[in-house]
Amino acid sequence: MDLNQLWQLTLGEMEIQLSRASFATWLKNSQLVDKRDGIFYIALPNNFAKEWIENKYQKNLLGIIRNFDSSARKLEFLVTNQEPKVLSKKDLEIDFNKLDSQAGLDFAKVDPDTNLNPRYTLDSFIVGSSNELAHAAALAIVQDVGIKYNPFFIYGGVGLGKTHLIQAIGNEIKVRHKGKMRPKYVSSEKFTSDVVWAIRNKRMEDIKKKYRDVDVLIIDDIQFIGGKEKTEEEFFHTFNALYENNKQIIISSDRPPQSIPTLEERLRSRFEGGLTTDINYPEYEMRIAIIKNRLQAANRQLSDEVIDTVANLIKRNIRELEGVLNKILFYQDKKGVEVDRKIAQEIIEKSTQNFFGRISDDQILKAVAAFYNIETPDLITRSRKKEMVEPRQVAMYLLRDILRMSYPYIGEKLGRDHTTVIHSFEKINQEINKNSPFNQKIIMIKESLHNKS
Ligand code: ADP
Ligand code: MG
Repeated sequence: MDLNQLWQLTLGEMEIQLSRASFATWLKNSQLVDKRDGIFYIALPNNFAKEWIENKYQKNLLGIIRNFDSSARKLEFLVTNQEPKVLSKKDLEIDFNKLDSQAGLDFAKVDPDTNLNPRYTLDSFIVGSSNELAHAAALAIVQDVGIKYNPFFIYGGVGLGKTHLIQAIGNEIKVRHKGKMRPKYVSSEKFTSDVVWAIRNKRMEDIKKKYRDVDVLIIDDIQFIGGKEKTEEEFFHTFNALYENNKQIIISSDRPPQSIPTLEERLRSRFEGGLTTDINYPEYEMRIAIIKNRLQAANRQLSDEVIDTVANLIKRNIRELEGVLNKILFYQDKKGVEVDRKIAQEIIEKSTQNFFGRISDDQILKAVAAFYNIETPDLITRSRKKEMVEPRQVAMYLLRDILRMSYPYIGEKLGRDHTTVIHSFEKINQEINKNSPFNQKIIMIKESLHNKS
């Protein structure tokens, strides 16, 4: 495996683990430039990224790299002032045929004016009952930009296609209104760092120009600006300026506006004044369609039983689904054997363990207790208090869902009969599927686990 391949695999894995915009912000334009005596040298575009990655992601990165190359002992980060290397056609061929097509290389193709990645189109967006409404809204907006559905607010869990859909709207508008309408996409982390930079350098005018001089502003993962006062303030003014001029505003978030705790009231009510839709977990047929679609695009094949196995085991995250698929293909190439159901299961088991890394059962209990504002022992005691019912059931659900613990073991841990555990698991599972705000709660608890690990 050459350095580039190794790095692409690592990025693919990081993307799954981070599940958020930080991936794009901090790791784009990064490169693995060299390895010597167990030291892996990683080039980053600026000091900002270097500091951030050194402090926050170093351990994760090293762990992942080690999975692919056991000689890795240590990472060294360098700052390059050069533009990222322009990729040759050959690099792209390797990438698209063999490796993770979502990872780093895609960034090379992002349109610098709009920040849109041409990979995300409405055509390549597969529609099922879980995202039908959001998709219909997207089509309506493309036809009637800025007036009817403004702002458009879309929310849902990680890896369910929010970024894909909102970028696809931008790409479609760009094509339809050739040059007459200027969309702009920005992650809320990038927006924040722009505002911070502008304040420091007394260049607020630049920011105003950059973000107000557009016809469609697409802002991704807005939950990250909640609580950052100056950024919210600037966003509020940008929002108003655009809104008053009938410019389209498109916003994504991992939860509905009313559940972003730190969001200023005035922003919240603006968001609620437009069209809000959610995206939910993909159903089985859609998961199959996505897998087949990806295989076709990469000109690859897998047996129906393997496709079925993947679709059955990965239900909650399309990004994860794609990651697993890439791993199976990679495995097949490397070992030169055809992957069957059993091998596929093993690969998936390994990769889902990885997903929640080093999380223990006690950490899960703690996270649940913290979320519901109770003490951890309350989850175990036999009190019949009504307010303990939900946290307890959620705890059982998460132990099963994340750690794949057996029902009897969970029962023992929480002092309950295993049939109670099964009942709780199924109940929560159903709730998640039919009740979006509830689903958001589960996502938030999972996120809190990610942030601590
Ligand atoms: P989110 O922004 O909600 O975390 P993304 O938009 O990044 O999720 O989607 C994760 C991955 O899954 C992307 O590679 C995206 O192209 C793919 N994806 C998500 N939804 C769909 C869909 N409906 N059809 C095809 N691909 C999808
Ligand atoms: Mg996203």
